Amino acid sequence: MTTIHGPLLYEGKAKRVYTTGRDEEVLVEFKNDATAFNAKKREQLEDKGRLNCQISACLFELLEREGIPTHYCGLESDHWMVVQRVKVIPIEVVLRNVATGSLCRETPIPQGTPLEPALMDLYYKDDDLGDPLLTDSRLSLLGLVSHECRQEIETLARRVNAVLAPFFSDLNFQLVDFKLELGLNSAGELLVADEISPDTCRLWDMDIRDEKQRIFDKDRFRQDLGGVIEAYGEVYKRVQGVIPKPRNYR
Ligand code: UDP
Repeated sequence: MTTIHGPLLYEGKAKRVYTTGRDEEVLVEFKNDATAFNAKKREQLEDKGRLNCQISACLFELLEREGIPTHYCGLESDHWMVVQRVKVIPIEVVLRNVATGSLCRETPIPQGTPLEPALMDLYYKDDDLGDPLLTDSRLSLLGLVSHECRQEIETLARRVNAVLAPFFSDLNFQLVDFKLELGLNSAGELLVADEISPDTCRLWDMDIRDEKQRIFDKDRFRQDLGGVIEAYGEVYKRVQGVIPKPRNYR
């Protein structure tokens, strides 16, 4: 590593964030820890950190090429990346192309229903509260973001979906749904932050009919299906077919 990291700023479930010598940039370390159900289920998965770091780097570069601003600056090593320091908006933005997961647990919509246009759900990012679903009225009551910023978030999230869904479809994966975290940099620009990986996206192989075998994302871990790292490795392999090597930092 060429960037010497300073003190730990923040430790989350899957990543650690450190200062660098520069105010505007921080270093993110992707951990091998896998957690689900608000960290009630935990495991160490060898190589997960590297795979999610590399896949995220490739996807951030893809978004960047399409003119979508992200916090990504470059890779520092196999499981470390340099990103712009942002103020993370405490909202999890979920885009759904196909109904599954919490949408089907909480509503009568049948599993597998195509959602066109994609459904956007916003959740309040708070582990103690269990990341509750936000309505527009709760969003304005909480004063988390202005009405204009709420619209900007939706436009950005839909642009990300418009790039990622066809990209994955070319790799024979259906992008079922995904979660984004957004942040504001020092210039007040809204950026895609956090990570985009099989931990945060649902990806189903388009040729496999079996409802369990087609899963190539964190649901393998959530549902104890095994083969988690093999599935993430396959996602990385297909992504690399298009974006062979993400750039190194400087
Ligand atoms: N997701 C995530 N982090 C969360 C919650 C959800 O990355 O804390 C992702 C999840 O992997 C899926 C999408 O957001 O791709 C929608 O998840 P859902 O609301 O269906 O929740 P779940 O069924 O996972 O509880």
